[in-house]
Amino acid sequence: MMNEQNILDMYEDAGALLNGHFILSSGRHSARYLQSALVLMSMDNAGQLAQALIEKINPNDFDMVVAPAIGGLVVGQEVARQLKKPFIFTERKEGVMQMRRGFSIPQGTKILVVEDVITTGGSVCECMAVIREHGGIPTSVVAVVDRAPNSKGRFDVPHATAISLNVETFAADACPLCAEGTPAVKLGSRGAA
Ligand SMILES: [Zn+2]
Repeated sequence: MMNEQNILDMYEDAGALLNGHFILSSGRHSARYLQSALVLMSMDNAGQLAQALIEKINPNDFDMVVAPAIGGLVVGQEVARQLKKPFIFTERKEGVMQMRRGFSIPQGTKILVVEDVITTGGSVCECMAVIREHGGIPTSVVAVVDRAPNSKGRFDVPHATAISLNVETFAADACPLCAEGTPAVKLGSRGAA
């Protein structure tokens, strides 16, 4: 069983605990970032992370797993694989979260939403809105990393995370790293094609 320190070590070993000046997918800036994609290059890691998330949820609470692309794709699929549940994803097109690729949700299906890193929770909220528009019922949210640990009640369904990373983030127009003139690296998938 993985505890929080084991998971952080996994990120460190994968060179996925980045220090610098980053623009998160939420648009906020930060000096620290966890690049889950580097951890998830290893199928072993993916399996263990998904296992850690599954330990925090009740598999009887849902019949389908949905993730917002791109961040939630790999870990969402792995959670679904281990639980033998169907997996689909939502994605942004021209900035708007939507369900594409012929996916559909049977009316009233209970759904677990999986994300890798939550900062503001925006992608998850948009994903849940899309699920509801299509007749699904989000019952819980689970994420690998929560960058804002004081987030109780942020979603209108229960949520759990494997690790909390309490690192300050800044609005783009109030970022001390920008004020120092350090170039920022854009991360995350929002606005990506
Ligand atoms: Zn900045």
